[in-house]
Amino acid sequence: MKCPICHQKIKKGEFICTECLERIKYHPIFTCKKCKKKLNGDYGKCTDCKNTVFYYDELTILGYYEHLMGEFVKRIKFKQERKLAIALGKKLGEKIKEKKWEYDYIIPIPMSADRFHERGFNQAYEIAKGVNKILGSTVKNNLIKKKNLPPLEQKNRKERIKLMKNSFIANKKSVILKNKNILIIDDVYTTGTTVNTLAGLIKKIGANKIYVGVLAR
Ligand SMILES: [Zn+2]
Ligand SMILES: [Zn+2]
Repeated sequence: MKCPICHQKIKKGEFICTECLERIKYHPIFTCKKCKKKLNGDYGKCTDCKNTVFYYDELTILGYYEHLMGEFVKRIKFKQERKLAIALGKKLGEKIKEKKWEYDYIIPIPMSADRFHERGFNQAYEIAKGVNKILGSTVKNNLIKKKNLPPLEQKNRKERIKLMKNSFIANKKSVILKNKNILIIDDVYTTGTTVNTLAGLIKKIGANKIYVGVLAR
């Protein structure tokens, strides 16, 4: 067995070596209760979140982008390192397990058909598989589709929200989400627009509680 990050030997049953794990485990003392943004005091919610309507109930993150997590996220997304996605997904799963969240289905953030054809790989789905190996639930990636959108990276917050609105479409099978608790999985939480939009749609279908787990903030 080798660590998917640094490739040094690891013990059976471990997914990442202890050194790599230490490097990604950094957590600040104060964070926004809703979006986990780092704060320099115990303010509860950050200024962004004070003016936002949230459709998800709780968020948990594995680590912060600048503390190596960003590098891993990029390796998963652009180099399609499936083993790394699953290994980190398992670590995220362990963290979620400690939270004792009760949910019925795991939904990885859907990828648009255009993007999927381009990459052949939905990183959120691969991470969700890792999470699922720890938590054992049903991963549903056939209920909600994402429309093809222009790249959001260069857009500001307002433009993103506008584009994201109505970017997810649920099919008839999604009625099974009614009165159920859902765990949404993604790789990165940037402005939170993506997860919040999907959470809004799932709530509209009639889901009860919505939790979110991501690798990096
Ligand atoms: Zn390592
Ligand atoms: Zn916040």
